[in-house]
Amino acid sequence: MVRTIEVDCLVIGAGPGGSVAAREVAERGHSTLLIEKRAEIGIPVRCGEGIAGSVLKMLGLSPDPAFVAAKVEGARIFSPGGSSVTLGKEIMRREEGYILRRDIFDRELARMAVRAGSDVMVMCEALGFKREGGKAIVPCRRLGERFDVRASVVVGADGFEAQVGRWGGLDTNLSLRDFDSCIQYQMVRKGADERYCDFYLGGKVAPGGYVWCFPKGGGLFNVGIGINGSMMDGMAAPKRYLDSFISRNEDFKSGKVLEVNAGGVSVGLPLERTVADNLVLVGDAARMIDPLTGGGIYTACYSALRAGEVVSDAIAAGSCSEADLFPYEKAWRDHLEPALVRDYLAKEKFLDVTDEVLDTVIGALSIRPPSELSIFEILRVIKEKFPGIASELNL
Ligand SMILES: Cc1cc2nc3c(=O)[nH]c(=O)nc-3n(C[C@H](O)[C@H](O)[C@H](O)COP(=O)(O)OP(=O)(O)OC[C@H]3O[C@@H](n4cnc5c(N)ncnc54)[C@H](O)[C@@H]3O)c2cc1C
Repeated sequence: MVRTIEVDCLVIGAGPGGSVAAREVAERGHSTLLIEKRAEIGIPVRCGEGIAGSVLKMLGLSPDPAFVAAKVEGARIFSPGGSSVTLGKEIMRREEGYILRRDIFDRELARMAVRAGSDVMVMCEALGFKREGGKAIVPCRRLGERFDVRASVVVGADGFEAQVGRWGGLDTNLSLRDFDSCIQYQMVRKGADERYCDFYLGGKVAPGGYVWCFPKGGGLFNVGIGINGSMMDGMAAPKRYLDSFISRNEDFKSGKVLEVNAGGVSVGLPLERTVADNLVLVGDAARMIDPLTGGGIYTACYSALRAGEVVSDAIAAGSCSEADLFPYEKAWRDHLEPALVRDYLAKEKFLDVTDEVLDTVIGALSIRPPSELSIFEILRVIKEKFPGIASELNL
């Protein structure tokens, strides 16, 4: 007979989404258990680690050097032909940009959850999900032991490879066109500019995606590539394209690789339903990730904050049916969905954009100094050069 742990809320996955959700529910006085299948929270890091300062503020954090590796001045976008445009603070809505140490950041969020009263178990894997007597039952395995967790609500925060939603009856299917396959090297590069996050576009560089290079300070950079699933010619394509980019680029060639990691990013629309009886999904598990940039830390944390509020209310009211949890669906959609849909449409267009178009737009913008570049100016150039694309995107 397996033992059963009883809690108000079980959170599956201790990424940013899971830890923030656990913190919110525990803070409101409900018994909460956060489980993570890996041995160490935050490791391995599968992330470029770029984040806007407003995300830290939203979480009540300051840019602590313990988990912030570097501050950046903006972004540079390189066309396939080599033109580049620099997007400074003026265009970033005066936002500060940071590169995190995700391993420390994720652990800090988990620490905050524990300080708020949540329990946490690492090396603990959820194996399924069923409902019984108005509660969720989740079989778990930890260090060879099998036990069940019985909870009023489960928060599925199990990331890109999520299974909890499917176990709970939600449709989580993803088409090839709606995911990017990524590989990233942590590299040491001598003498490279450490002020900007760089993005390299083009079909020959990264089909349907881009190469990024984010500075972590002291000569360290995250250099990665995402390739759209529909444009992959073999499983090894991301590595092949990234190695080819590095070998062709004088600035990168002499760099040395200290770490390699790989992962997937969904670039589709968020799930049609993120709530079921006794279940809510947050972050990547709900496919809440910006389809154009692949950025998902903000959306994971924002959705987790809203999930924490709604889940707590439902537990307090003594009923956690789909209808009781439905306010979560509205809360995150009202705030996040318009931008996610807009960027999904832009990503769909981006998949068809030729290298010539990228060279023309970026070339036309590259002659402007960063201080004179605004969203308005970028839209003006796209409208002037490519009125068809502009009208399809409602620009
Ligand atoms: C290569 C790459 C680069 C990226 N770069 C950026 C970037 O620069 N900026 C940005 O904002 N976003 C970036 N992202 C996206 C970002 O990493 C994710 O959107 C973010 O981590 C989502 O947080 P999450 O909490 O939803 O999921 P995750 O951080 O993926 O956390 C899910 C956790 O659940 C655990 N888990 C899974 N299944 C189970 C189970 N059955 N039982 C117990 N635990 C389980 C996993 O081990 C994991 O720790 C990148 C992604 C990749 C792959």
